[in-house]
Amino acid sequence: MGNSQKSEFCLKSELLQEIPNVFHGFGCRLGPRGVLGELAAVRQLLGIPASNPLAPGLIQQEHGVEIATVVSPIAIDLPKADGAVTEEPSIYIGVRTADCLPVLVAGKHGNAVGVAHSGWKGTLDGIAKKLVQTFWKEFGVAASDLIVSIGPAIGACCYQVSAERIALFLERYPELRPEITGWQGCLDLGRIVQHQLELCGVPSAQIEQIDLCTECHPELLFSFRRGDVAPARQFSAIAISRIVD
Ligand SMILES: [Zn+2]
Repeated sequence: MGNSQKSEFCLKSELLQEIPNVFHGFGCRLGPRGVLGELAAVRQLLGIPASNPLAPGLIQQEHGVEIATVVSPIAIDLPKADGAVTEEPSIYIGVRTADCLPVLVAGKHGNAVGVAHSGWKGTLDGIAKKLVQTFWKEFGVAASDLIVSIGPAIGACCYQVSAERIALFLERYPELRPEITGWQGCLDLGRIVQHQLELCGVPSAQIEQIDLCTECHPELLFSFRRGDVAPARQFSAIAISRIVD
C-alpha cells in the first residue's frame, strides 16, 4: 500500500508520525541492529535529537507471547519477552526481526507506546491481542485509542508453509480461510494480525500495514528465508519524548 516513507535506513509510519511526542522507526539493512553501543543509530532511527535523553528498554525475544512492562532502562538481564510497553519518556523499546512482523503501537494521545515481535508462533498464539490487553491493564488505554503500524515482514507472496501449519491457523481462526490460504498455501501474517487487532476493538482506520515483503526486497531488508543469518536483523523501535523540538 506504500503508506510509509522509505529510506535505506528506515521506514516511517504515517499514522504514528501524527503523534507529536512519539518517535519511531522500522529499521532496514543499514539501520541499527538493536544492540548496546548503538545509541546514535537508534537516535537516527527514531529521529530523536542528541539533546534529548534516551535509554534502552531491551527484551530477549523467544517466540512467546510475554509482554514486558518497562519502567526503567534495561540493558542487562533482559526480560524474556516478545513484546514491551512503556509510558516512561526517553526509554526506547524495540524488536529485532527478519521475516517476522514488527508491530509498533502508541496511544493516540502519546501517553504510552508498545512493540511486539509476531512470528508465526506469536501470531498463532495472539501476541497482538496480548499487547492490546496490556495497554488497558497497565495504562488504562483502550483499544479504540490505539494507533498500530505493522512493519515490513515476509509477505503472502513468499510465505509458503506446510499444510500442517495452515491447519493450525485454520483451527484457531476458521473465519480467515480465504485470507490465509489465498495464494497457494501462503500465510498472510500481516492480515492475520490486523484481524486480531480488529477483533480486540482497534478501529481499522487506526491500523496500518507497511506491506513490504522482506524476501522480495534484498536491497532494503534482511530475510531469514532468503538466507540472512543472525545478527542480520532489522531493529524497529518506538519511544516517547516529552521534549519535542
Ligand atoms: Zn515476497
